[in-house]
Amino acid sequence: MKIFAALMIALLSGLCAAQDQNQKPPQPVTRVLRCGTLINPANGQVQHNVTVTVEGERIKEVREDGPSTGGAQAIDLSDHTCLPGLVDAHTHVLLQGDITAEDYDQQLLKQSVAYRTILATRSALHALDYGFTTIRDVETEGAGYADVDLKKAINRGIIPGPRMQVATRALDVTGAYPLQGYAPDVPVPHGVQLVDGPDEGRKAVREQISFGADWIKVYVDRSYFVRPDGVLDDIPTFTMDELRAIVDEAHRQHHKVAAHAMALNGVHNAVEAGVDSIEHGDYIADADIRTMVQKGIYYVPTIYVGEYVAQGRANAGARVWLDMIKIHADTFRKALNAGVKIAFGTDVGGFDWNIDPAIEFPLMVKYGMTPAQAIRSATLSGAELLGMQNDIGTVSPGKYADIVAVKGDPLSDISLLQKIDFVMKGGEVYKSGDRK
Ligand SMILES: [Zn+2]
Repeated sequence: MKIFAALMIALLSGLCAAQDQNQKPPQPVTRVLRCGTLINPANGQVQHNVTVTVEGERIKEVREDGPSTGGAQAIDLSDHTCLPGLVDAHTHVLLQGDITAEDYDQQLLKQSVAYRTILATRSALHALDYGFTTIRDVETEGAGYADVDLKKAINRGIIPGPRMQVATRALDVTGAYPLQGYAPDVPVPHGVQLVDGPDEGRKAVREQISFGADWIKVYVDRSYFVRPDGVLDDIPTFTMDELRAIVDEAHRQHHKVAAHAMALNGVHNAVEAGVDSIEHGDYIADADIRTMVQKGIYYVPTIYVGEYVAQGRANAGARVWLDMIKIHADTFRKALNAGVKIAFGTDVGGFDWNIDPAIEFPLMVKYGMTPAQAIRSATLSGAELLGMQNDIGTVSPGKYADIVAVKGDPLSDISLLQKIDFVMKGGEVYKSGDRK
């Protein structure tokens, strides 16, 4: 039986080799898009009647009122606004909503990593369908290195999905992260890799990078409460020695660090340690806002998820989540006015993947951004945070042909971005909606 299988493999590979010799290298496919309007997030300007020529997976040419390119397959988006593929810099493909602690525990205790990964392939497809052609997935919540495998399968063309940067397991200290509250003699999984002490932190960073982490994710605070003076306080998780060791080890290996930091001490410690992005940042002290500007640390505010989970968590006894909505809005305004770099991120997975993460856009505008600023945060700023600005973030020659389109003008009605009906990633059309 084994010999038969080996023979078949040899025969088939021989056939393939023979076929390869007869075939010329494939010519890159040329596609032409006619966009009624094209938004340039770099300056917030628009161009009208733009022809975008795509060769293979990259953009070859962008020109206004360009003549038609003979022979190439034209895609008519003349009644659409085109913009670069969107970037969601804070996702969890391996999580399917966790309003309450029970929702979270169920996923870790009753679903195998294999099953969760199957669900994650659906999350990835959702992201692409909504127009998010790139995501930064900031930890697997107990599903190990499944994000690395998902990313590989997408990159190899096995399943459709967005470009991904992944953070694998994330780091937190003993006693700070679910699952919690079980009997001491009952071993339960944790949503993170637990590390204590600078050496364990360094070792975990080395381990995660060796297994494919693009980013290191740290949880730097927990147990939130509002002080009488309105400041959102917390218990910091890592000591400064631990945090500095983790950041130093990641940076030494040219990897970046994302910090879940929601309140006073967590944010302060994270910016002092020199992380690259503050995730959530519900409360950021004025001095820390200044430090973020000085050091160029990004703010990924994830406003919608806070509002989404607030009532459920308040019903479960944690009223602070309702108070945090206003605190978060105030912080967002302050950071925006101070010139902090803001990248669009949603925490989708923390809320149901059936909800389009573009629901974040109207909140960013409600709390002070112009629609053009919000679009920039989800394109060029996201690209810069990920270090991918030479490949994505604008519709420009040389960059990947990651282009989305929507009917109407999102610069006058930002909520339209929840209705993207054309998605191209790397020159391939993944969605063409009701477009003729
Ligand atoms: Zn998150």
